[in-house]
Amino acid sequence: MAKHLFVTGGVVSSLGKGLTCASIGMLLEHRGLRVRLQKFDPYINVDPGTMSPYQHGEVYVLDDGSETDLDLGHYERFTQAPLTRDCNYTTGKIYLSVIQKEREGRFYEGKTVQVIPHVTDEIKAAIHRLATDDVDVVITEIGGTVGDIEGLPFLEAIRQFALDVGRENCVYIHLTLVPYLKAAGELKTKPTQHSVGMLRQIGIQPDILICRSEHPIAPEDKDKIALFCNVERKAVIEERDKQFSIYEVPLSLVNHGLDEILVKRLKLKAGPLDLSDWRAMVERIIHPKHEARIAVVGKYMKHRDSYKSVYESLDHAGIANQARVLCVRVEAEEVDARGAEAILSGVDGILVPGGFGMRGIEGKIEAIRYARLRGIPFFGICLGMQCAVVEFARDVLHLADANSTEFDPSAAHPVICLMEEQQLVRERGGTMRLGSWPCALAPESLSARAYGAQLVHERHRHRYELNNGYRPAFEQHGLIAAGSSPDGSIVEIMELRGHPWFVAVQFHPEFKSKPTQAHPLFRDFVAAALERREAVRLGSERDKR
Ligand code: GLN
Repeated sequence: MAKHLFVTGGVVSSLGKGLTCASIGMLLEHRGLRVRLQKFDPYINVDPGTMSPYQHGEVYVLDDGSETDLDLGHYERFTQAPLTRDCNYTTGKIYLSVIQKEREGRFYEGKTVQVIPHVTDEIKAAIHRLATDDVDVVITEIGGTVGDIEGLPFLEAIRQFALDVGRENCVYIHLTLVPYLKAAGELKTKPTQHSVGMLRQIGIQPDILICRSEHPIAPEDKDKIALFCNVERKAVIEERDKQFSIYEVPLSLVNHGLDEILVKRLKLKAGPLDLSDWRAMVERIIHPKHEARIAVVGKYMKHRDSYKSVYESLDHAGIANQARVLCVRVEAEEVDARGAEAILSGVDGILVPGGFGMRGIEGKIEAIRYARLRGIPFFGICLGMQCAVVEFARDVLHLADANSTEFDPSAAHPVICLMEEQQLVRERGGTMRLGSWPCALAPESLSARAYGAQLVHERHRHRYELNNGYRPAFEQHGLIAAGSSPDGSIVEIMELRGHPWFVAVQFHPEFKSKPTQAHPLFRDFVAAALERREAVRLGSERDKR
């Protein structure tokens, strides 16, 4: 029977619950256990697909096409656990299912449908769904903060869950903040006590507290937390901010013995812990040999989470190349206003990520032209590829008013247009071309070399595509379709001949990169950027002489 681990958060949001769950999952896997992870988000949207990146950060797409919370990205980067649409439930998705059953009129036998038991049953069923025979531990993260009105049904459901499967088969972990008060010169444990108090009122007694803190927590403070929160002393675990990377988090949890506490408490049949691969990876982060400056030109730059997986993938590519990647976040509108040279001179590579809507488009196009003409390695992703196509059409094919019909529905040269399957779609939620699709690679292409394969599978989230009518003209002038759907109908990758590294993809490779296994395209992009940096350095030394 699978064991269950429930992770809640208190005091403030953004404590890194997702990272903690992912880290625990990774540690248990490294002890030979089979793990599944899942997240409950208390908001009403059915999924984050319709939310602005400002609101929610990146929408993380899975192979099966579900649009999910970005914490699932952490789960995939840290563990091997397969993720599906069963791994992310919102209040909206739970209620949608309850209401559909009620409308069908068969399920509730004429009863009044209520939060308890019907909504909580629906939540518990979602947890059970992951606890299949081939699984040792299911880790369930409850989004939000204890005390939120919206979170109550989820907390009630995980309380009841222990009654169903046995308290000894469940562990409750609560993440809190232990803030430092400068004026008093000390750490404060009271917010943690209050937060645990609130959990206990609901009927959940946490077994383990993970206390986020900017400073070391003194033994007296840990004693106090243990006593007031009714938690074993050794289960009060400090989690300090990490100096170099989020990938250090599991290592510090091990130092505090978390994996051993879990194994003992849940009586898991676990093997010894071997973290040599992970430690070697973290070593490479701490001691890089090279450095590359990569500009990411997008439009949600102030919000760190909007391109979360892109930034992570660049870090992974750095690890693979033994380099530190310095990410220069550039607002596309700035490039438009001040010119590419002013903003982008001195970078070793330019990446234009995905996005929606008109704002910043001209700046992205300007940045791509700069990369194309200067021979700066360029990586375009989704909207980034579409902009590269528009740029090339305007500047090289001399189609001055080439555009995507997303931005100009009556463009004289619609080089990017709505996919046929999208033309009749009216609803916004979950209706794009989503999830994993095969892509056949052209032999001899940069992409085929990077992947070392002829057929790959990548994740998608888009409505528009390259207009095939213009494909011959592009190819005549050197912008080649280096990857397409196996039937050849949808262009997936464009590459520029005669340029050191210019690759633009319709899919989102950032969703398939791991710190221990960088995505091949990100890896080669950063390698090309490092090569360019070295060439520029040698060139300027020669000039000085
Ligand atoms: N807005 C573009 C489309 O729908 C690109 C989407 C994206 O970058 N994810 O095709």
